[in-house]
Amino acid sequence: MSWTLVIHGGAGRITRETVSAEADERARAGLGTALNAGAAVLAGGGAALDAVEAAVRVLEDDPAFNAGRGAALTRDGTAELDAAICHAGGAGAVAGLTRVRHPVCVARAVMERTPHVMLAGPGADVFAREIGAEAADADWLATPERRAQLAELLAGSGGFDAEMKYGTVGAVARDAAGRLAAATSTGGVTGKRPGRIGDSPLIGAGTWADGTCAVSCTGAGEFFIRSSAAAQVSARLRLAGRTLHESLAATLAEVSALGGTGGLIAVDAAGAPAWRFSTPGMNRGYAMPGARQVALYGDEFTGQAGPAR
Ligand code: ASP
Repeated sequence: MSWTLVIHGGAGRITRETVSAEADERARAGLGTALNAGAAVLAGGGAALDAVEAAVRVLEDDPAFNAGRGAALTRDGTAELDAAICHAGGAGAVAGLTRVRHPVCVARAVMERTPHVMLAGPGADVFAREIGAEAADADWLATPERRAQLAELLAGSGGFDAEMKYGTVGAVARDAAGRLAAATSTGGVTGKRPGRIGDSPLIGAGTWADGTCAVSCTGAGEFFIRSSAAAQVSARLRLAGRTLHESLAATLAEVSALGGTGGLIAVDAAGAPAWRFSTPGMNRGYAMPGARQVALYGDEFTGQAGPAR
């Protein structure tokens, strides 16, 4: 049996005009490294759950993306980190972590070491410390680049970042044994109110996996929450008999009808990789034995060259 890994590094106003040559290079390199980490697990016969965690860990360390180090900051200038991991056998999530290097690993520990699915706020930070999760300083998490972006935002509209071009991260995988898993990690949206929780750590909204498919979302979280976007993809496959691409398109149309934009990555039980986004671009990539792509902009890999948009 084959394996499949699909990753994203956020959707938003990602175009050749808005992304510098240097940022383009950094994003592609980061996505490539994450694909390598996840693919190494899967190629070695490892579990989908381990692969999505490995891929997301790499992106959490990469300041080019909005997760872990380099997370988008609240209007108070603090990093509040959200993450989730999910497979048919369970789910775990954290919200509002402030001093952890790898939120996705803490989410997994919630799943495996507590009777709960989600921990938030100070209690989540305490749990992270108790399990010996690697700690990170607030100053290390909040990079100068993110501080500058926040300052710019506050100097302008004062609202939160509607363009979301800073790169929440996620991964979905199907392993050689046919198991599916999904993980998502984010700092949320720049300038968010402290305490705000988006779709990423909410099981069924930004992250979902069951025996049918695995899904990770990125975009305007409030709209993905209101449409149960990630779980909706599975429902369309299971209950409406749709294909994966049809299910992604219909789900994204529902998010759009509510007023939200963003993107989703997914893999189904047969191992078909897919993505779809309504923004100008989405940082994304996939790997399977003998196939591999990384892309940022909307006009890359349309048609027959890769998973349908
Ligand atoms: N969906 C994330 C959130 O709302 C943000 C993003 O994907 O960029 O927290």
